[in-house]
Amino acid sequence: MKTQLYSYVRWSSDKQTGNSSLERQTRKSKEYAARNGLEWAELRDEAVSAYRGANWDEKKSALGGFIGAVKSGLVPSDSWLYVESLDRLSRQNVLDATEWFISVLKLGITIVTGLDEHVYNRESIAANATGLMMSIMLFARANEESETKSKRVVSHTKLLIERHKEGKPATIKSAGSHVWWIDSTGDEKEAVKPHPVMWDAAKMIVEMCKEGHSVFRIVAALRERYPYGFKGRDWSGSTIKNMRVNPALYGCRIMQLGKDEHKLENYYPPLCTEAEFYRIQEVKSNNKFRANKSSSISLLGGMRLIRCGQCGGTMNTLTTTDGKIRYVCSSGLASKGGGCTRSWSLSGILIEHCLMIVLTHAYFDDSIRNQNSATDLDGQIEQHEVRIAELNTEIKNIASGIAKHYSEALVELLAAAEKERKQLVQELDRINQKKLLLTTQSVFETNMVNFFELIQWGIISDPTHETRVKLREIVRRLMRSVVIHKYDGIVSLQYSYKEGEYFVFEGAGKRHEWTHYIKRDKDTSTVVSAEIIEQVKNHRLIKDIETSLYNLETAQDGMFNMVLDMLAIVNYPKLKGSQFWPKKSSTERTVFKKPE
Ligand SMILES: [Zn+2]
Repeated sequence: MKTQLYSYVRWSSDKQTGNSSLERQTRKSKEYAARNGLEWAELRDEAVSAYRGANWDEKKSALGGFIGAVKSGLVPSDSWLYVESLDRLSRQNVLDATEWFISVLKLGITIVTGLDEHVYNRESIAANATGLMMSIMLFARANEESETKSKRVVSHTKLLIERHKEGKPATIKSAGSHVWWIDSTGDEKEAVKPHPVMWDAAKMIVEMCKEGHSVFRIVAALRERYPYGFKGRDWSGSTIKNMRVNPALYGCRIMQLGKDEHKLENYYPPLCTEAEFYRIQEVKSNNKFRANKSSSISLLGGMRLIRCGQCGGTMNTLTTTDGKIRYVCSSGLASKGGGCTRSWSLSGILIEHCLMIVLTHAYFDDSIRNQNSATDLDGQIEQHEVRIAELNTEIKNIASGIAKHYSEALVELLAAAEKERKQLVQELDRINQKKLLLTTQSVFETNMVNFFELIQWGIISDPTHETRVKLREIVRRLMRSVVIHKYDGIVSLQYSYKEGEYFVFEGAGKRHEWTHYIKRDKDTSTVVSAEIIEQVKNHRLIKDIETSLYNLETAQDGMFNMVLDMLAIVNYPKLKGSQFWPKKSSTERTVFKKPE
């Protein structure tokens, strides 16, 4: 077997200079190996610094890994190491650099530098010590260069920190990375911006943390809502755990510069207030979902789903002293203009009661559609099977490559291929299960029974019931919007789960009467009085609903009444007209005019 020459390339993450120098080094090392009858292999370290010896780390760098493999006998100790110049190996202080260099030569390794084709090994140095002296001088110079550069970077960074402290915008890229929900690609004299894609996901994580959801549940929700993941990788619990303790949530950047720690307030656009940040820490340390009696779970809060009909702002959740939920528009207090001038609120029980009526419609619709989508899954199954077969071949090839000559890069490639394969196999299993479920005859009925169990009145009327967390997920998945109006002494609630179609519940006619109707963007609305609902006496079965759905346009009223009947079975009280005519309290004098 031929002796191996490992070409070691360490290049900066700067793409422009990186690629061309990489190609040049690779070509030159291959030529050298061919000329000297050596078998070529490669070691690569991208964006690993040699200034503080990070490229010697056995676990974190290819070079360190290679030396480790020689020490443990996995790689023959008479192998060659090819580098462009000695400063690729080390930019550390001259004593450490020389000590490391000699220890590598003592292992039996031959080091050759591409620029001058100088060969360093035990024999060459024993024969002529000037080689060693030259290497010491080269290491000293490399270290000096790095030190000067580092000092320059530090003083420039200090200027930018000063700039920020003076209240001017600054993006500081030279001291550590930015958080993942931020776009820091702008000029250093501009402020950082929310990341165009990741910001929304980050916002959702913070909202869920505030509501007290577990990391596990947050990851599940992220996978569903943002399936492309976090920079193409799957969402993980550690991402959330690291994020929720990071003061960057309220805009503060903590930066290490040399030995000094700098705390830059208002550096990032905030995801929450500082108080909310501390509340998140409290929720986390309590860790139990119902740590105290007041931790109520709203069905609509924190999802940017419920809006104020007067000003268009997002409504928040508030828990009253007797443990009830109210939805409140406080945008007038927070926003600079255009919001409600006074905050106003409405009972959560009415909003959530009506929500469940609409959610039941949405759930029926969704279940029917899912049933028809079983055939769509066949395409997905085939795609997965093809890719898994490809990966099997790939894995076999890489493994035999490693058997021929060991390389850190190949090992990484193998691990990545195996990881992808494992994920695909698990996904395929899930899809197959889903298909099985969907093609089973009774699935619709089973779904419905489970759903009604989830939305039973006992759960809706108890704001602290843990099942509400599950219910929130269904609301999030199916509902498009909820808009709350209050004008002329009445309440008007508008729900939508389908584009262009709105379920409206509002006070109407005489005091203490109410009505509901379906409003469509183009059609004229059909008004159905509450009396009709009273007249419905016969309970139809779920099967009828399935049929009704196919003629939804005409059967809408019948469908609506059926839903009310079904909800009555799981203990829902009747909606009362008085709920839509709230009393004027002394604290809430805001009178709104009916919007145009
Ligand atoms: Zn408002």
